[in-house]
Amino acid sequence: MPEAPVIEGARHLHSGKVRDLYELAGGPHDGRLLMVASDRISIFDFVLDTEIPDKGEILTRMSLWWFEQLRDLVPSHVISADDVPDAVKGRAVVCERLDMFPVECVARGYLTGSGLLDYDATGEVCGIALPPGLVDGSRLPEPIFTPATKAELGEHDENVSYAAVERTIGASDAASLRDLTLAVYARAEEIARERGIILADTKLEFGRSGDGGRIVLGDEVLTPDSSRFWPADQWQPGRAQPSYDKQIVRNWALSPESGWDRASGEAPPALPPEVVERTRARYIDAYELLTGQRW
Ligand code: ATP
Ligand code: MG
Repeated sequence: MPEAPVIEGARHLHSGKVRDLYELAGGPHDGRLLMVASDRISIFDFVLDTEIPDKGEILTRMSLWWFEQLRDLVPSHVISADDVPDAVKGRAVVCERLDMFPVECVARGYLTGSGLLDYDATGEVCGIALPPGLVDGSRLPEPIFTPATKAELGEHDENVSYAAVERTIGASDAASLRDLTLAVYARAEEIARERGIILADTKLEFGRSGDGGRIVLGDEVLTPDSSRFWPADQWQPGRAQPSYDKQIVRNWALSPESGWDRASGEAPPALPPEVVERTRARYIDAYELLTGQRW
């Protein structure tokens, strides 16, 4: 995996699959976090050696746009997207450091992914019973809160029941996170729908602010890395839906052309330039469609 860049005035804290987290030292933002979105891309939990040019900037701008749309529902951790070191301008955000809740707050309006796997095995997702007969891509009777525990790097998050979240963080905070998650989903789903895009599900992370303990929305929001966006006009329950992000890369990796054997346990090979370019164009499409702004 490509290394996190060294940034002057910032101490590297953590690297996820796609983002690098720093703590700023000195200056007006001393002690605050710098969240840097790289151009890395991951599929099937592998970070690829090939990067997608501008992906970090596209996703950073998308996330900032969404934080704006959600402003009246929940405060965000964003402090500045301008006042960042030159080396990472455009793809970094200065954030308030939060005390994060150890819960991945997922809302689902449609059934797929780990939700579908759980449903097929038990008829439930996170302890919520769903009607029989649902298939991959089915719209749920109403959006549901399906929390997960955060996994270590390389592991899968694990879906848990609402009761388990209550035990971990207390009933009052659990209710707040659930209500906020569903409110954010409802707002975002409506905005996306108006633009011909289905927001199938989304993952949010909240934390508590140092000043007075407000609950604040952290991390990134409503990017293709944290959410499933599907073109509404191609939605067809009963199969995997085409998506606005990694579909091109996934399809290529699974095609004979790539020479990759998924069962080998090895990372997929480097992407051909044509796949990189089409993937970049796809991210730009998603950005332009959702935000209504030109890239
Ligand atoms: P993955 O690549 O699977 O997401 P990861 O979650 O370890 O792995 P990142 O998402 O890049 O990697 O890590 C960002 C980390 O920063 C997460 O642990 C997230 O909870 C945390 N975080 C996000 N916003 C804040 C904040 N405002 N204050 C403190 N921590 C934050
Ligand atoms: Mg993460």
